[in-house]
Amino acid sequence: MTPDDYLELSNILFKDENLKTPEEYEEMFPYRKLPNKAEVTRLAPSPTGFIHLGNLYSALADERIAHSRDGVFFLRIEDTDAKRKVDGAVELVIDSLRYFGIEFDEGAGFPEDAPQNVYGPYTQSERKDIYHTYAKELVKKGLAYPCFCDEDELDAIRKTQEEAKELTGYYGKYAVWREKSLDEIKAALDAGKPYVLRLRSSGTPDKEFVFEDEIKGKVNLPENIHDVVILKKDGIPTYHFAHAVDDHLMRTTLVVRGTEWLASVPTHVELFNALGFKLPKYAHTAHMMKTDPETGGKRKLSKRSDPEMSLEFYKKDGYHPRCLKVYLLTLLNSDFEEWHRNNPDKELDEFPFSVKKMNNSGALFDMDKLENICKNELSELEETEVYAFLENWAKGYTPEKLDTYFSDKEKTLDILRLYMGVGQKRRRKDFVNAAQAMDLISFFFEEKENPEDEFRQQPEVKNAILKDYLESFDYNDDNSQWFDKLKSIAQKNGFATDRKDYKENPDKYKGETSDVAEVIRIAVTGRANTPDLWGIIHIMGEEQMRERIMRRID
Ligand code: GLU
Repeated sequence: MTPDDYLELSNILFKDENLKTPEEYEEMFPYRKLPNKAEVTRLAPSPTGFIHLGNLYSALADERIAHSRDGVFFLRIEDTDAKRKVDGAVELVIDSLRYFGIEFDEGAGFPEDAPQNVYGPYTQSERKDIYHTYAKELVKKGLAYPCFCDEDELDAIRKTQEEAKELTGYYGKYAVWREKSLDEIKAALDAGKPYVLRLRSSGTPDKEFVFEDEIKGKVNLPENIHDVVILKKDGIPTYHFAHAVDDHLMRTTLVVRGTEWLASVPTHVELFNALGFKLPKYAHTAHMMKTDPETGGKRKLSKRSDPEMSLEFYKKDGYHPRCLKVYLLTLLNSDFEEWHRNNPDKELDEFPFSVKKMNNSGALFDMDKLENICKNELSELEETEVYAFLENWAKGYTPEKLDTYFSDKEKTLDILRLYMGVGQKRRRKDFVNAAQAMDLISFFFEEKENPEDEFRQQPEVKNAILKDYLESFDYNDDNSQWFDKLKSIAQKNGFATDRKDYKENPDKYKGETSDVAEVIRIAVTGRANTPDLWGIIHIMGEEQMRERIMRRID
């Protein structure tokens, strides 16, 4: 075909006279004026109605990279695959990320006329004309052509290649429509045959080039040789083509995306070149991995089989968003943990985040580590913050408990102070998440039929201890007077009051004072382990304490 043929073909394939020119788009979407080193990043999810930990991990990286240097972070919706579209999916992305403190600067979700939304539309299904402008341009330059192969023909090509043990795909001599004449193409069009638009690849087989990834460093990749589809039969772009056009026109400077896209880089490099676009920087993020409890080996965290992959999992159990953020930052930048330890008073966003410090091998997700972080982070909050967090969580997940747990604010705050060790030398670290914290303090508000932990003493010993305790109890005793009474009860019932003595002569005693305290603890709280029992009793009140103990005396 001659240049004139290409021009004619481009006008036949793209008849719409209202299509703008590439130059017009270049002018409409000028390079952004940003400070030196500021990056423009984006999250580009498909609206599948599901957002997972991997998305949050990338989104946090995107957001930190952009916002730590006055850049821009925007949301683009990649809805070119209509089968995967779910209503409300955009709101889900925005709300889920907002819960974790991640906000977009522009993009999908903002009102159409929002002043900052000047690089839109940000939803791919609304950008058809833009893609067609650039596709037309490629046809005009002889860099793209229509291919009328149907599924059967493509299957036959694949079979031939498989039998000859050759690379499968639409390339080289197998790219049957790449050298057809304009007349042949016109005939197929006249016959009403459906077609896709393909890139005319100029890659050389077995030739490699060096690609510099922001995370992985230098990687050798083969040149692309496939005449990849850029527009599907319905005129909708493929991911590859939309990525090139959108990230160019939206002036993305750094594409952070999953490592599964690394293999497509050769295609993208060729597309950017063909389109005359400057290639953005790329950072291909490692997969989230976990240690398989059964095999002990590492494997990818999976949406289907790992509930902890779903963000709903963290909301449902009430993980504080800050804890998750700290955890993900720990995974994302290896020096974050130390920085956070050394700078307890600094905001998380003050951490100098860098894409260069991102993990190259798989980010290993570890629930125990997350829980430890939760314990630390929650212990550092004010009790009023924990109160507000629990109450808010309860509104969504256990509304039936709101009245019982939160109608007497002072009492609940007292409980939280006790459980957090507020005012003590060192804070306690009991709370992991809202569901677990509510459960830990639940005995103040509801009594279970049976204690959760069993009494370890014989029933008659247990009964005697409880009776003696009720007899001698005086609400006005301070902690040490109260404890002295426990010791007397211990002595009276054959328990050692001196630890050393007990260790040396264990057979002489039924146990020691702490075993006596345990009986009372279980009777009052249902549990063998709690913070300071005297403190619990003084929040609970004498009446309730007596009722509970009476119920445990047979
Ligand atoms: N829509 C693509 C995905 O969901 C986005 C990849 C990218 O960030 O470019 O995987």
